[in-house]
Amino acid sequence: MQVDLSFFPWGSCRSPAALVLSGAGWNTLEQPVLVGVLRHPQRGHYLIDTGTHPRLWQQNWSTRLFLWLARMHIPAGPPPVPILSGIFLSHFHFDHAAGLLDFPDLPVVTSRAGYAWGRQPAGRLSGWCNSLMPADLERRATWVEDLPQRQCGPVSGGDLFGDGSVLTVSLPGHAVGQHGLLCQTERGRVFFVADAAAHSQVLIGNAKQRLPCLIASDRPAERRTRAFLRGLRNWCTMVPSHCPVAYSGWDCPKG
Ligand SMILES: [Zn+2]
Repeated sequence: MQVDLSFFPWGSCRSPAALVLSGAGWNTLEQPVLVGVLRHPQRGHYLIDTGTHPRLWQQNWSTRLFLWLARMHIPAGPPPVPILSGIFLSHFHFDHAAGLLDFPDLPVVTSRAGYAWGRQPAGRLSGWCNSLMPADLERRATWVEDLPQRQCGPVSGGDLFGDGSVLTVSLPGHAVGQHGLLCQTERGRVFFVADAAAHSQVLIGNAKQRLPCLIASDRPAERRTRAFLRGLRNWCTMVPSHCPVAYSGWDCPKG
C-alpha cells in the first residue's frame, strides 16, 4: 500500500545561516515551518503537524521573544487542507502544535511521553504552550507508543494504518517523544524527520548543526538520532520540518 504526500510551508523564520549550519556564512537563511498532507487510499487525509498560527503572538513573553528573535512570519489563519481524518503531531513545540485548536474533534496521533512531559513544569519551559492544547486531546489521542511495531529495512516503528504504508518512528533527542513518519509513496520511501535535523544538509551533506542543538531535550540522544538518519541517506528521502530545500518539488495539497 502507498500513500500520497504533500508538504508546504505554514510560517517561516529567518536567521543568519551560520547560526544554523557550520560553514554556511552569515547570509540570511529563511527556514519554512513545514506542514504535510498525507492521503491514504482508504483512511483519508491526515495533516502532518499544524504549523504556526497568529495565536502564538498571545503566548507568554518567552515565546514572543523567540518569535521576535527568529523574525517569524506567521500566516493569518490555519493552513488550507482537505477534509481530514486525523492529525499526526511530531512533537509539542509551539511551531508544530499552534494550529491544533483549529481542528476540534479530529483524532490526533502523537506521543504519550511527549504529552506527559509537556504538562510538567520542566516541559513547559521547552516549547510547550498550555493554551495551545485542546482540553480533550487525551480523549482524542492515538498514542504512537501503543501502535503495533513493524520493521521496514533498518527502521522500526508503529504501523499507523496496519498495512505498512506509514510507520511512526521514534526520533529521540530534540524533544521528548518526538516521532517522524516513514511513508511508502509513489516516489519511494519518504521519511518526514520533523526537527531531528534543522536542514537536509546535516543529513545528506557534511554540515554540522549549530544553534538548534541548544534547545534539545537530550543532546547525546539527538546526536545518535542524526547519526542513525545519516545512515539512511541512500535509502530514503528525508524531509526535515525547517529545511528550505527538502520540500521543493512537492505538490501543493490536493483538495
Ligand atoms: Zn521542535
